[in-house]
Amino acid sequence: MAFNAEIARKDFPIFEEKMRGKPLVFLDSAASAQKPRAVIDAMARFYSTSYANIHRGVYELSERATGAFEGTREKARAFLNAPEAREIVFVRGTTEAINLVAATFGRTHIGADDEVLITHMEHHSNIVPWQLLCEEKGARLRVAPIDDRGALDVEAFGKLLTPRTKLAAISHVSNALGTVNPVSELVELAHAAGVPVLIDGAQAVPHQAVDVQALGCDFYAFSSHKVFGPSGVGVLWGKAEHLEAMPPYQSGGEMILTVSFEGSTWNEIPHKFEAGTPDIGGVVGLGAALDYVTGLGLDAISAHESELLAYASQALETVRGLRLIGTAPHKASVLSFVLDGIHPHDIGTILDQEGIAVRTGHHCAQPVMQRFDVPATARASLALYNTRADVDALVAGLERVRGVFAR
Ligand code: PMP
Repeated sequence: MAFNAEIARKDFPIFEEKMRGKPLVFLDSAASAQKPRAVIDAMARFYSTSYANIHRGVYELSERATGAFEGTREKARAFLNAPEAREIVFVRGTTEAINLVAATFGRTHIGADDEVLITHMEHHSNIVPWQLLCEEKGARLRVAPIDDRGALDVEAFGKLLTPRTKLAAISHVSNALGTVNPVSELVELAHAAGVPVLIDGAQAVPHQAVDVQALGCDFYAFSSHKVFGPSGVGVLWGKAEHLEAMPPYQSGGEMILTVSFEGSTWNEIPHKFEAGTPDIGGVVGLGAALDYVTGLGLDAISAHESELLAYASQALETVRGLRLIGTAPHKASVLSFVLDGIHPHDIGTILDQEGIAVRTGHHCAQPVMQRFDVPATARASLALYNTRADVDALVAGLERVRGVFAR
């Protein structure tokens, strides 16, 4: 059956709630997505029937829990089309995935006068870990520029790849601008210069199918909560050759093979990077979320959202004094904007009175705000459950905002 957002929306119990006495218009999925009943039920079922600690128990319940946990590893492998399930490391989210790579791969490969290349549109979580690493090592952070539409300057990116560049870390989709980067092209350029590439996929995986083998990257990170799963869980995929060569990240139980007071040895990947008891129920919920989006079909979701993004971009242009921040030719899901003379926080507060949830602020991308010379933006972000009615409600809400300030 063809994808139908009206029908998919019924899978999300939250839409039965009223906000400020009105139907919820949820336009903040880039911050965190709502959860379908399939995820909520899978977690409740897991805790009701299969919960125990994993990997260590010889009893049936622990085997069930381990099976469910490891089942998600295979689902995540298939979701990213990764070659092997042992290349999937469970982490807390994209932020931890990037910190893990900085603390292990980064500390090993980046030394004094080396360079890490990022772009001007990165989320703080793909800036600050590299900044700290560069400070520690006496290395330099280089930043590829973006143009006035928020598109990456690919030529400049290519020129910034030098023999000193030891890693490129780039977002697949920008959370503040919606720009979709040409990641396979960037990976090709980087690899031609011998530079490995980490991709921050936090804003990509809810909106499009991702194939890490086709992209050719070295690391790919995403968060469960943005792809309709629970918060507190995420995935780092890395090529086995990298993961095997990397030193451990956190240490303790589970990540070891042997421990004595003289020294310890490390478990195989991915367990080497999974110290301590993980968020077992969260990982099971992530598995249900991946089943859910895969069941709907990411290509169908992507087609629906592209159509809706085009509709929303046109509709917002009818609002007097509105300026879209981020108009790259290739965009996904995000509409960041400012309204002449009205602070974004006021926009958010007035829209809230109508039951409309948008994000306002710097979106953890302060350099993007600096680039466009705005202190903040209002951001409406779309997901599979949004419809034209949501966009129409936003436009009507913005007219109300203008009305309030015209008085
Ligand atoms: N990268 C991007 C592009 C993001 O949008 C976000 C979340 N806003 C992150 C990284 C960080 O994700 P998390 O907070 O789930 O670790």
